Amino acid sequence: MPSNTLWHPYAQMQTQPAPLEVVGGQGPFIELAGGERLLDATCSWWCMIHGYGHPRLVSAIQQQADTLCHVMLGGMSHAPAVELAETLVRITPPGLDHVFFSDSGSVGMEVAMKMAVQYQVLRGRPQKHRMLSLMRAYHGDTSGCMAVCDPEEGMHSLFAGLLPRHHFAPAPTAPFDASPQDVDADIAALRTTLEACHHEVAALLMEPLLQAAGGLNMTSPHYVRAARELCDEFDVLLIFDEVATGFGRTGKLFAAEHAEVTPDIMVLSKGLTGGYLGHAATLATGRVYNTFLSDDDGHAFMHGPTFMGNPLACRVALESIAVFEEEDYLGKIAELNAVLREELLNERVARHPAVNDVRVLGACAAIEFKDAVSLAGAQTHARRQGVWLRPFGRWLYTMPAYITTQDELRQITAAMTSWVEQC
Ligand SMILES: *Cc1c(COP(=O)(O)O)cnc(C)c1O
Repeated sequence: MPSNTLWHPYAQMQTQPAPLEVVGGQGPFIELAGGERLLDATCSWWCMIHGYGHPRLVSAIQQQADTLCHVMLGGMSHAPAVELAETLVRITPPGLDHVFFSDSGSVGMEVAMKMAVQYQVLRGRPQKHRMLSLMRAYHGDTSGCMAVCDPEEGMHSLFAGLLPRHHFAPAPTAPFDASPQDVDADIAALRTTLEACHHEVAALLMEPLLQAAGGLNMTSPHYVRAARELCDEFDVLLIFDEVATGFGRTGKLFAAEHAEVTPDIMVLSKGLTGGYLGHAATLATGRVYNTFLSDDDGHAFMHGPTFMGNPLACRVALESIAVFEEEDYLGKIAELNAVLREELLNERVARHPAVNDVRVLGACAAIEFKDAVSLAGAQTHARRQGVWLRPFGRWLYTMPAYITTQDELRQITAAMTSWVEQC
């Protein structure tokens, strides 16, 4: 069904090969027209954490559809939204007690940034109106988000003229398991940046532990903890973008837990609904929320996406979280992690002349090549082995659905390592 009516994301429409025609999905498999089945190593941009066609998630949507598909949240409330807000407060780090819904990760981040700026205005610090972000960050594709993505590699340099200018600190370089001393240089660089710009910074934003779309850059919990301390010292809010890391990807339910810190604001999306519907949540602490309380209507938070708190999305999110808890997904993720480590963290892969680095964290693994050219043909190679991989830049990676079996995961890692070997 080649069609140029449908404009594809991140695609040169003149030269891209015909997209695969998907007719269904079951478990970790995507089903194509013609009967081919592909094991999805990416769980559809990291969101389909339960795989496809999960009976409990499908039926949650069907049952909610019989009752109420949508209603505005302006001046109204409903059980699915209230229950999901309460559940998110229960499962996220202590202190995040208030939940604002929106419809995608990017919008969730826009909400977080607006909240941070208005928070500073309301407490009489209007000059603190910029963000501090990290190099290699990715926070979404809307204008506000583009402005806090890595300004050189973040895909958006074309739009520099449109975007407000923010501050950037160097990307952390110490690995996940670095000793505290090995993280000192990263922390010192963050401190130096804050010293220079804190007087005009509302918030520091980061993808804790795993900068995902910016190149699967993993860092240490010591860095995340130090960021919390520096934000307090310099009177800057800390925003965690857990759109990719949330819901188990790093091995704990939220990446913040590895460092045992609570950010002031935290954004969730991708895995929130198990990928079954687009939705996002921006959580805030009492300190942030209470600053908006006033007799003055002008202090209200002026944001309200049409589809915020959509009942179908909230119901399927609640079901997703219930399955996650009842079926010990953190246990499944630990098992997947063991397979990834065994199959990828070895000399054969790591010492290969084409490979720069291999990293594994939770249910995420990346092989970083020295040169993006080495990845031309990797996707076709994987498809011949029944695996859907979608490398980008210099990175061949997997973020499988958590219901992927160990044998299925070995099929994914075999597609990756056999590509390395023929390089
Ligand atoms: C995907 C992603 C976003 C953007 O989410 P969308 O739903 O695509 O708008 C933001 N932040 C991070 C860390 C992401 O991985």
